[in-house]
Amino acid sequence: MSKVEWDIVVAVKQPADLKGVQPGKLPESLLRPAVGGGKLHWLTAAAWAAMVEAAKADGVELKPVSAGDTYRTYDSQLAAFKQRYTTTPNGNATRTFEGKKWYKKDPKLASLAAPGTSQHNTGLAVDVHTAAEPKRLKWLIANVRKFGFSWEVVPEEPWHLRYTEGDNPPAAVSDWMAKNGVVKPAIGTTPGTKSADAVGATKDDGGDLDPGDSGPRVTKLQEELAERGFYQGAPDGQFGPKTEAAVIAYKKSKGFGEGAKAGKRVLDDLGIGL
Ligand SMILES: [Zn+2]
Repeated sequence: MSKVEWDIVVAVKQPADLKGVQPGKLPESLLRPAVGGGKLHWLTAAAWAAMVEAAKADGVELKPVSAGDTYRTYDSQLAAFKQRYTTTPNGNATRTFEGKKWYKKDPKLASLAAPGTSQHNTGLAVDVHTAAEPKRLKWLIANVRKFGFSWEVVPEEPWHLRYTEGDNPPAAVSDWMAKNGVVKPAIGTTPGTKSADAVGATKDDGGDLDPGDSGPRVTKLQEELAERGFYQGAPDGQFGPKTEAAVIAYKKSKGFGEGAKAGKRVLDDLGIGL
């Protein structure tokens, strides 16, 4: 299997209702049960259900690896992260978290994003059970885009799919939603949506990222800059002085001009998107 054959990696567009929500701390009102176990953001849950149904019609069973491989709370991501990564240097692949370098305990272990930085924390990612099985992978390659999913890391993580289409699900998903009576959660009227979870979170208008902004896209910006060696420390979702310095240095290295604003060109280049 060549890498090119399923090099389907699309930037994630965040659903608008994730604004102001800290990764790993989604209010229950935004979550729905995932077919096969666990929970997902309601739009991802619908896209997943539609895809599972279509696969079944073609004789392919899709299910999550486990309930823990759908939406993950911050605390569960933290527990899993600390199982797989250690601060003791060992020459293995690293992540940056809480201002420290963490090393994979065993190179054979699957990589795991630092807490709060994974799409599993936004309810947009689901890991597919035995995704690399040839028949299943072939079906996924032919169909994931129809349902708004794409991979994040190919070819290393055939199981890890993220729903990328935000508030504009593709026809196969919106048709399924209409057929199944899925409606948008009534934000602000459902108890729990104004929970403590959202306090102190996002300031992000969905456009350029500027100093002072905060939220999941800032976390992603920090994570991407950290991976490229421009941001040091723990991604915290706050566009402060460290992030400013990282953006300025990154733009300079790319010839993207001056200033700390992360505009369209920077966001596109880092795969974050507006
Ligand atoms: Zn995953």
